[in-house]
Amino acid sequence: MRFFAYITRQNRYSFSPLLARAGGRLIPIENLGEVQAGDAVLFSFLSPQIPEVAEALEVLPRGTLRVAGGPHASALPLHALEMGFNYVFLGEGEEEINRLLDFLEGRAEPPRCLQGKGLKGEICTGVEIELYPPFSELLPIPIEISRGCPFLCTYCQTPRLLGRKMRHRSPGKLEYWVGKLLRRGIRDIRFITPNGVAYGGKGGANPHGAIKLLALLKRKYPSSRLYFGSFPSEFRPEHVSMDFLRELRSLVHNRRVIFGAQSGSDAVLRLLKRGHRRGDVLMAAEAARKAGFIPEIDFIFGLPFDDEGESLSLMKELVLMGARIHAHYFLPLPSTPLALAEPRPLSAVFAREVEKFTGQGNLFGQWKRQREISRWLYRVNREFSGSYVGEENEGDEEKNYAGGPAGQSGGKDV
Ligand code: SF4
Repeated sequence: MRFFAYITRQNRYSFSPLLARAGGRLIPIENLGEVQAGDAVLFSFLSPQIPEVAEALEVLPRGTLRVAGGPHASALPLHALEMGFNYVFLGEGEEEINRLLDFLEGRAEPPRCLQGKGLKGEICTGVEIELYPPFSELLPIPIEISRGCPFLCTYCQTPRLLGRKMRHRSPGKLEYWVGKLLRRGIRDIRFITPNGVAYGGKGGANPHGAIKLLALLKRKYPSSRLYFGSFPSEFRPEHVSMDFLRELRSLVHNRRVIFGAQSGSDAVLRLLKRGHRRGDVLMAAEAARKAGFIPEIDFIFGLPFDDEGESLSLMKELVLMGARIHAHYFLPLPSTPLALAEPRPLSAVFAREVEKFTGQGNLFGQWKRQREISRWLYRVNREFSGSYVGEENEGDEEKNYAGGPAGQSGGKDV
């Protein structure tokens, strides 16, 4: 049996470590035309990619085995099965990918995280990422330095699907993997983490962890160009300080750093369980400017309970300080507490102001496309309500992280 991983622009980060684990058994393809009956094709996707995935399934010949993984299928396996998948793999794949391939060939028991055809899977989380390669030579990607998140932002799947324990790759291992990228001629080194300033710790601010790591890499590989705090990593606003950002500036190549604000209203931030306040965002943006960075600040439009006036006023303050706004539209993601919350249309006043920011070059992002998706995602969630996976990761707010300021419970997904 041939095993294909269907690679798209959006799922490269998910598949690359699995390709490394599976060796040559799993073949990456971007064109489904070469798939034949009897082959197995693995998919990995986020909720917004459902339409593209549905189209791709249509192209596959009859008799192809179809396996879904990634955040949407992991959170809502019944929907993935209804879409036409034979199996759904729930959660993190490094430990079980080879068992999955063996099982599909009829040579092993199913992995415990497989659902479909009489199998009720449980979600696999807690992989010690330190033990596994972060990327395949076939598909080099930014290096994941940390996985999992102790915060519980109500719109975010990360702690529900990847667990609340933050796991890290050690500096020694990262030195090794960065060296591999450099030897392939890749000088721009990027990192994946939900909060770069928490590297090496349990989830609270740990600026020395990140600075030590970056200093080590820079010393060892002076020709590398390190990107940290810019996509696909970011910082929680209340975790950064001027000292941290100044030191960072001397080590990294990026001139932009990303913080999550999401809303300008403290009351809304509390409802979102963000764990920081509006004032933290302003302080982080100001410190970033003074340290020589351009701050890019994430906002979520269309939240069911947002205070548009407060968000607008914060965006205006930030833009005056020289920040740029990265706009998203609220997506009710399965397995999150807001999965059944209805996205709210923008008021005419808010929309007009947003267009002004955009015209001035101060606001960017895919928020209009996300707005189209959010409505039907809301309907899918309602239809499958009650069958989400990962909700058991909700829990005691006070225990949801260690080392951060009291009462904190939030962040922004990558
Ligand atoms: S948004 Fe960020 S900080 Fe909040 S739960 Fe998700 S990953 Fe964690």
